[in-house]
Amino acid sequence: MRSPPRDGAPTVTTSGRNDFAAFRRELRRVAPKITRPLPWIGHESPWAVLVSEVMLQQTQTSRVIEPWARFIERFPTPRSCADASLAEVLTAWQGLGYNRRAKALHDAARVLRDEFDGVVPRSVKELRSLPGVGEYTANAVASFAFGVPVAVLDTNVGRVLARALANRRLRPSEARALAADVLPRTGVAAFNQAMLDLGAQFCRAAPRCEECPLASRCEWRQRGGGDPSPLSAGVSRAQPRFEGSNRQLRGRVLNALREGPRSRQELGARFSGVEPGRRDEVLASLVRDGLITRLARTYVLAGA
Ligand code: SF4
Repeated sequence: MRSPPRDGAPTVTTSGRNDFAAFRRELRRVAPKITRPLPWIGHESPWAVLVSEVMLQQTQTSRVIEPWARFIERFPTPRSCADASLAEVLTAWQGLGYNRRAKALHDAARVLRDEFDGVVPRSVKELRSLPGVGEYTANAVASFAFGVPVAVLDTNVGRVLARALANRRLRPSEARALAADVLPRTGVAAFNQAMLDLGAQFCRAAPRCEECPLASRCEWRQRGGGDPSPLSAGVSRAQPRFEGSNRQLRGRVLNALREGPRSRQELGARFSGVEPGRRDEVLASLVRDGLITRLARTYVLAGA
C-alpha cells in the first residue's frame, strides 16, 4: 500500500496492507504502558531537553540519567553553561564519553547566550544552527520541548519504520517521509516518545516480538521474511569495541586531567602497555579537538 499523503509530504510504498491510522491509534493506546520514566520527558526547560538529547547521542539511556541530573543541577540554564569554562563543563561531563559533545554543547550554550538572548529556539532551522545539533537532535528538541509537529528518526524509530510499517529496507528520504506520514496531527511529542520507547524496549536489534504490544499491527511480524531493518535508514551500525580503543585512552586522559594538571610522565601511567606513537597520537587528537591544552611539560583540560 501507499502511505496516506499528508500536508504535501511524499508518500512511501510499503510492502503490505498496513493501516497507518490503526498503527497510530494502537501505539497511542499502549503509550502510557511503554513510556519509560525518564526525568527529561515533559521537562519544562527546553535547555534540559537539549542537554538530554546531546547526551543520548551514541549513549545508552541508562548511562545518561545520573550525569544529566548532575549537569542540569550544575548548569540549569544556557547562560550558566556559557559563562563556565570548558574545563568545568568537561568535568561535569564525567561518565559519558564522546567528550567532543561536551565541547559542542558548551559552544552551543555560548551561541544561545550571545545570539538567542539565552533562550533555546523552537524552530528546527535555528536549532540546527547550533554546534553539535544535527537533524535528529533538532527535531527531538523541537518536538519534545515545544510540541512542533516534526518526526524524530533515530536508530530505534528506524527499526520500527522498516519492520512494522514498510517491511523493507528504507532509503533516508523514504524513512523521513514515512516517519512524517505516520505522525499524528496532535500529541506529537507523546507519539514520538512512544515510537522511541517501542524501538528501545521491544523493536530492538534482537526484537522482542512475543511481548510487543504492536505485534498485530506489524507488517514484518504478520508477513514474515528477512529482517528489513539492518542497513535501513536511521538504523545505526554496531559500535566498534570500546575496550582497548583510542576512545578508551582518550577517556582515561580526560579523567586524569579532571583531577588536575598532569605531566606527560604522570599521564604515562594511563597508557600502560600502549606504544609511544599511539600515546602521542591520542594526546595530539585531544589537543586538536580543543579538549586539552599543553602548557610546557604539563597537560590541562582546555579552559582550565
Ligand atoms: S512485532 Fe517485533 S518487529 Fe514488529 S514492531 Fe514489535 S518488536 Fe518490532
